[in-house]
Amino acid sequence: MPTPAPDRRRPARRRRVLTGDRPTGPLHLGHYFGTLQNRVRLQQTGVDLFLVIADYQVLTDRDLAHRPAEHAENLVLDYLAAGIDPELATVFTHSAVPALNQLLLPFLSLVSVAELGRNPTVKDEIAHSRQAAVSGLMFTYPVHQAADILFCKADLVPVGQDQLPHLELTRTIARRFNDRYRTDLLPEPEALLSDTPLLLGTDGAKMSKSRGNAVPLGATEDETARLLRGATTDADRHITYDPQRRPGVSGLVRLAALCQDRDPHAVAEEIGSGGAARLKATVTEAVNEHLRPLRTRRAALATDRGHLRAVLDAGNRRANAVADATLAEVRAVMGSV
Ligand code: ATP
Ligand code: MG
Repeated sequence: MPTPAPDRRRPARRRRVLTGDRPTGPLHLGHYFGTLQNRVRLQQTGVDLFLVIADYQVLTDRDLAHRPAEHAENLVLDYLAAGIDPELATVFTHSAVPALNQLLLPFLSLVSVAELGRNPTVKDEIAHSRQAAVSGLMFTYPVHQAADILFCKADLVPVGQDQLPHLELTRTIARRFNDRYRTDLLPEPEALLSDTPLLLGTDGAKMSKSRGNAVPLGATEDETARLLRGATTDADRHITYDPQRRPGVSGLVRLAALCQDRDPHAVAEEIGSGGAARLKATVTEAVNEHLRPLRTRRAALATDRGHLRAVLDAGNRRANAVADATLAEVRAVMGSV
């Protein structure tokens, strides 16, 4: 049998996966079901996993990044508690990898102002922005994110639904770069959505760290109960699963179902005429039960902040080596000196 020709586009290397979070607060159930579980699964299949703590991106929608270093360490804590293995994954902060930011300039030249202006996620984040005026970075951060993904030539990006427009732009940038410089240097990454690409928060909108509607993974059982008690429901006492017409109630039903690995209709039926109070009690118990092992690991890991910083140091070193190599290749194909 003839040996297949080597694939020049993809030299023999482990599949790379890049994904990340902004250090704006502790990770919540939306992250967990939206992307974190997928990250851990991918790690277990042996991919080369990169996790970016996107600290520069925090500046997109607020004038000040509050305690970014502390938030970054806490993200590492949440990752490890959820099952990310620092021996297998590269966890790094954006601001520690200067070569990554140098990729921003050539990439920015490949997109139009109009393209940036019509990005629906950017529009949504502007609406929730805590800035006095919309900054230039707000419009350009999807390109920044493209640099995060392309610096390590990621093949796959496990994200929530809100990130799909950004990922499409990353693919466009990779394609245009390859066309303009007649190269095949940058692979076009694929998005990986979970079965829960958009988990709603206690107010019925996308659960987000910065919108006060999240249940953090590291919350205590009592805090979890308090947050879920405050969730928005509706006037109909009979509990059903109907995401279109009853987003609040259905969001809670879905959360219980996810935690118990059950069908949401069955969960709703069981609660039936028990009303919102019974629904909230059920969800609280399901969440606390499901997260108990994670929370136990988290509490143990939290006693050693030095370890969390060491994980970041090692990740930053590796990410810098990868980014330096990609920047050198990019400069070479661009003919830079
Ligand atoms: P912020 O409010 O500061 O923007 P966030 O809660 O939106 O925080 P990010 O750090 O912006 O969190 O998002 C990190 C990743 O988690 C992204 O891939 C995003 O799509 C995913 N994600 C965030 N919230 C949810 C959610 N409610 N459901 C599913 N995925 C989510
Ligand atoms: Mg967000």
